[in-house]
Amino acid sequence: MNLRLNKIEHLGIAVKSIDEGNSLYTKILGVPPYKEEVVEHEGVRTSFFQVGPNKIELLEALHSNSPIAKYIEKRGEGLHHVAYAVDDIRDEMNRLESEGFHLLNSEPKLGADNKLVCFLHPKETGGTLIELCQERS
Ligand code: ZN
Repeated sequence: MNLRLNKIEHLGIAVKSIDEGNSLYTKILGVPPYKEEVVEHEGVRTSFFQVGPNKIELLEALHSNSPIAKYIEKRGEGLHHVAYAVDDIRDEMNRLESEGFHLLNSEPKLGADNKLVCFLHPKETGGTLIELCQERS
């Protein structure tokens, strides 16, 4: 069977402080993050933890205009998005848009961890921000 959304690539968790988030998740998972990365154009500092075949991404706001700062202001720290791996992000963007979902970016953009990403507005997804991500070759 040809899967469209292959697997959950990672869960994104909004934190006020990446340092505190890192030490909390190192305690929970028993391993430190395998990388940290600043994504300047998204206004975020991220860190990634490997959990078996899965990943956890922590996101800290770089400034008060960051979407993460706004998210934490409204809803507090915690689960921010669910990211699904796709093989062809443009194909999935077209499909989901034709299904009536609102894409937050009309072109795939460069995300953390060497991925092309696109977000779906949570209004049409039952309240969960969904990220599509495709490995960059
Ligand atoms: Zn993500």
